[in-house]
Amino acid sequence: MNNEDFRQHAHDLVDWMADYLEQVRRYPVKAQTEPREVLRQLPLEPPDRAEPFERLFADFERIILPGMTHWQHPSFHAYFPANSSPPSILAEMIMATLGAQCMSWATSPAAAELEEVVMGWLRQMIGLPKGFTGVIQDTASTATLCSLLTAREQVTKYEINRRGFDNDDRFAVYCSTETHSSIEKAVKIAGFGAESLRKLPVDDRFAMRADLLEEAIEEDRRAGRIPLAVVAALGTTGSTAVDPIREIGEICRRHGVWLHVDAAYAGTALLLDAYRWMSEGVELADTFVFNPHKWMFTNFDCSAYFVKDPAALVQTFEILPEYLKTGESERVNNYRDWGIQLGRRFRALKLWFVIRTYGVDGLRQKIRAHIKMAQRVVTLIEQHPEYELLAPAPLNVICFRYRPADIDDPGALDALNERLLEAVNATGKAYLTHTKLDGRYTVRFVIGQTQVTDEDVLRTWKLITDCAALLRPPAQ
Ligand SMILES: *Cc1c(COP(=O)(O)O)cnc(C)c1O
Repeated sequence: MNNEDFRQHAHDLVDWMADYLEQVRRYPVKAQTEPREVLRQLPLEPPDRAEPFERLFADFERIILPGMTHWQHPSFHAYFPANSSPPSILAEMIMATLGAQCMSWATSPAAAELEEVVMGWLRQMIGLPKGFTGVIQDTASTATLCSLLTAREQVTKYEINRRGFDNDDRFAVYCSTETHSSIEKAVKIAGFGAESLRKLPVDDRFAMRADLLEEAIEEDRRAGRIPLAVVAALGTTGSTAVDPIREIGEICRRHGVWLHVDAAYAGTALLLDAYRWMSEGVELADTFVFNPHKWMFTNFDCSAYFVKDPAALVQTFEILPEYLKTGESERVNNYRDWGIQLGRRFRALKLWFVIRTYGVDGLRQKIRAHIKMAQRVVTLIEQHPEYELLAPAPLNVICFRYRPADIDDPGALDALNERLLEAVNATGKAYLTHTKLDGRYTVRFVIGQTQVTDEDVLRTWKLITDCAALLRPPAQ
């Protein structure tokens, strides 16, 4: 493809992109595809001969697009959103065009310096104290792993990095039963072993019980283990429950335990003063992560990781072979040493584009609007005799189930709600997913898509109640 062809295809493609975003409501939200249906349409051998872009693109539209779930559909209410926005997409286009490797300052000085600046902006936007320094990671999973590795190295004076483990079950890590699976993954990768993870029971709001945390730490210490770190959730994945950060932080202080705060999704709500209560006590944390790539209109991947002690982070990861040595490391950040990967994308650019295009006020307005839409649905559920909330909904994630008056059996209610969710998703008009809370099958309704409107949300609520009415078991 020469540059002239590239120019033409790129122009056509931008039109396609704008049309797609304008008409995305026409697609089924969740791919209505059977397993291996896409694969069967693709040749299993690579093409020897060059193919024209037109043919390639036609195949993209015919084979690939129908097999995609449309995450930018306003009626995408599943999991957590992976929002994009026009300024973020434009930044991604520039990033792809520059194709820069931003591993050290010298490999792209502007990328390193812009990252330092926008992470400072983000820190202020979510009200983290000045003592925190930010670095962009690919995902919250990686940030949490970095946090646990830094904790491990600080406690062992960098001995495990040097010599490996002596005795592999000395450490204990604490979280609640509701925390994200990435915590257990990090505990396994860090070499502690999954059995070193203490998943503490939660209270009736699905938040960690701090009293049980202190008991668990004391018990481990008596048993000769090293209580290493606590991962507190600021917004659990199931129901956006908020662990008591201050109480947990004070326990960590008292016992010399590292504290990581996982705010992957709900961190965005900290842009609003009304939600700063969630991070009360965050100054006691060692590290903090939230994902602009979930609810802050920035394309995946972009995870904001904040640390109190960047020197400890760098000391954990720094490796300096001859070919990476440069002269200016005193005055600049070489982000290759701030995490696991060497090569890095220029992700600061999309944050810069998003924050400047919306302005902090514009971002706040969108987030506030999402929460308001969700609270309206909360009221509809509370007022409906056949539905019930299964968890508090402090933000824009609603956990509920259908509960007709004549059905009491827990198993029957689980099965009914599973069928309801399948029926809703099979329409292609909305996409919701589920979780289990207190052992009960729970439908999750997440209202945080970039373009979602009140009308979209009310239409989805009507879709849910219509599907439920069709499922009603016939009267005896
Ligand atoms: C989504 C989520 C994660 C994982 O985020 P990735 O960036 O996909 O690794 C971790 N913790 C919580 C609370 C989450 O909601």
